Amino acid sequence: MSINDYERVIGLEVHVELNTKHKAFCECPTTFGAPPNSQVCPVCLGMPGALPVLNREVVDFAIKAGIATHCTIESVSRFDRKNYFYPDSPKAYQTTQNDFPICTNGYVEVASEEGTRKIRISQIHMEEDAGKLIHHSEGTEIDCNRCGVPLLEIVSAPDARSAEEAVAYLRKLRAIVRYTGISDGKMNEGSLRCDVNLSVRKKGDEAFGTRVEIKNINSFNFVARAIESEFKRQVEVLEGGGQLVQETRRFDEKTGQTYSMRSKEDASDYRYFPDPDLVPVRVTREEVEAIRKTIPRMADERKASYMEAYQLTPYEAERLTEDKEMSDFFEEAVAHTSYPKTLVNVLLTDVSPSFTEDTVEYPMNPISLGVLADLLGNDEINSNTGRRLVKALLENDFDPKAYVEEHQLAQINDRTVLEPTIQAAVAANERAVKDYLGGKETALRAIIGFVMKKTQGKANPLLVETMIREAIEE
Ligand code: ADP
Ligand code: ZN
Ligand code: MG
Repeated sequence: MSINDYERVIGLEVHVELNTKHKAFCECPTTFGAPPNSQVCPVCLGMPGALPVLNREVVDFAIKAGIATHCTIESVSRFDRKNYFYPDSPKAYQTTQNDFPICTNGYVEVASEEGTRKIRISQIHMEEDAGKLIHHSEGTEIDCNRCGVPLLEIVSAPDARSAEEAVAYLRKLRAIVRYTGISDGKMNEGSLRCDVNLSVRKKGDEAFGTRVEIKNINSFNFVARAIESEFKRQVEVLEGGGQLVQETRRFDEKTGQTYSMRSKEDASDYRYFPDPDLVPVRVTREEVEAIRKTIPRMADERKASYMEAYQLTPYEAERLTEDKEMSDFFEEAVAHTSYPKTLVNVLLTDVSPSFTEDTVEYPMNPISLGVLADLLGNDEINSNTGRRLVKALLENDFDPKAYVEEHQLAQINDRTVLEPTIQAAVAANERAVKDYLGGKETALRAIIGFVMKKTQGKANPLLVETMIREAIEE
């Protein structure tokens, strides 16, 4: 058998750091980057006698995530203690929801090459983060500022079947946490972290294979690479007559390979038990409905409305709404132009690369881009100049209309102005003219290029083409 006879089975566990003002069980602030151990108190340091009180904002955020992913919001959920020792956790247990999570049985829809598929979410639960260990050559320091910062863990069913689908799912989740405003969803700062579970099976088989968990991958690109290299490794083991062991592995960015960290721990290893210091979490129907009203228009809704209002293709609308920043940016820009289609083209081809994976700010002033789309739409500048202006606007903001006047970048649409240059171009490119007359359409390009160069790229290329044809045919 070959690698093509196997299929990938992927389940994802995503940790989202919530941007609540305070920690999950105490009043300590959650500000990122504060001096080490400046945001701690007896509760998050696990001092004897200190008692936790659940921060209601964490519950509200969990409910938002649950609503946005079509989950059932459980009226009663509960916190457990997951017991283990590690120096970044002074309590020696993590407060987490194991047996009774707050959200269950949801899904998100992801678009892939095979069309739209549902990836089920088995549960979303609330828990707390651990501190950070800072390693030096002389030893290790412990920073407890992050101890007790609230997290949501979003657990998918093993539904994804390719690296692209897994990444599309993660993108969707990131869009959801950003649209709802519960987290900035930055993978590079660790506010969105992902564990990938992967097993393989022969295509057509029902039963799942033994799964491996790859911990803490911090970019979409690495998720895709980790899946591919681990898939290959598992198939090679099976094809070589070996057996897979359930284990936890890590992905090394430098080699692109996964390495074994430890054999998989069992739930029983953690001695889970209900946290006696915290009462069960109760949520009423009314509370859920009130929170539902605070959720902004999400990607799918925006997508449908853009397609309708601006006659966009599903692909264009999907790309515009993938990211909340991009979508908000588009909405501001489109309010300042009479040429939405032109705006979309420029945005998706020339501006979108500047909305990188972790962008949360606009790369340029959306109003200026709206004005630019008008200049293009009104034939006042050509696409050449448009691209130049976009580049400049990404550097610093200015009024494109004034800029075009000042730098004399206006498109030349006047036949009488162009005529002498057209004649000169035809005269100077005898060879190309002959080729064109001999049936070689592409020969025109050389002559158009000549005119564009002579006019510093400002001529209307369509008009130039028409005029050259006319001149030659005469
Ligand atoms: P645990 O309790 O050990 O964490 P879970 O049942 O919660 O196990 O599953 C953890 C993750 O592993 C989920 O995202 C799930 O979809 C995924 N998973 C479970 N079985 C498989 C499998 N055979 N192949 C791939 N992923 C799997
Ligand atoms: Zn505290
Ligand atoms: Mg789990």
